Amino acid sequence: NPAITLSLRLIPYSENLWLLVARDVSRLLQLEQMRRDFVANVSHELRTPLTVIHGYLDMLDPEEQPDWAPMLAEMQRQSQRMTQLVEDLLTLSRLESQDRLQSEEVVSMASMLNTLRREALALSQGRHDIEVDDAVDLDLYGSGKELHSAFSNLVSNAVRYTPAGGRIQIALRADDHGGAVLQVADSGYGIPANHLPRITERFYRVSTSRSRESGGTGLGLAIVKHVLNLHEATLEIASEVGRGSVFSCRFGPSHVRRRDDAADPARD
Ligand code: ADP
Repeated sequence: NPAITLSLRLIPYSENLWLLVARDVSRLLQLEQMRRDFVANVSHELRTPLTVIHGYLDMLDPEEQPDWAPMLAEMQRQSQRMTQLVEDLLTLSRLESQDRLQSEEVVSMASMLNTLRREALALSQGRHDIEVDDAVDLDLYGSGKELHSAFSNLVSNAVRYTPAGGRIQIALRADDHGGAVLQVADSGYGIPANHLPRITERFYRVSTSRSRESGGTGLGLAIVKHVLNLHEATLEIASEVGRGSVFSCRFGPSHVRRRDDAADPARD
């Protein structure tokens, strides 16, 4: 392929001279593409065997072999974790392979918030106080599927990194500039400030043991970051160790619809 990709940088050299530095990054991009393809292929190939293992494990009845019950339960837990990891890797490759959203629609936030509430309640199993402020007259414009995967990762983190008795709040609000902010706040462990700059990297974790125990894959925030990028939105994290964290997803006006606008097709 004779096409090459150059990365250009203009650097001030002296008062009236600038240096234009051109770097051939074709090979780098090609390697990055190979890495993505490899991860996507491996994940895809792992899907079927995992489904089979999972299926047979579900059929085994622990009552027939009571001694095996703890082992069966652990195998089920671990195969569930592997399945989640493979699904998250596939989601991440799908997100990485697009530089813009393939299709966009008005995403009903009333029903999104409802779904998030249900998911939070199911994960928490009564251990947390969960508040969802769903009195919104806003909707988002984008991919409902991808937005759901981002928000539900934030909600699942809030539940998993908040000890029992803690509080989790989910809300969507208009900002002063025609945009909107979706916030997931928890009163949990919090994240030390020195970890924040790298927290959205794949597999980056504050405490490996706590995160493993909590059942995460280490890919959640990387997924959130990618989904928000595709919606030209940003992620802000405010956190204090021992007090909790607030994750804010900020959307610009072009991705926000007021409820009455949503019914007006002329705007889309
Ligand atoms: P994981 O699957 O490990 O939860 P994520 O990418 O979702 O992966 O999160 C990365 C790390 O960020 C977690 O391992 C955890 O250390 C930290 N983290 C994420 N959300 C929270 C939160 N709400 N409170 C405290 N720590 C968090």
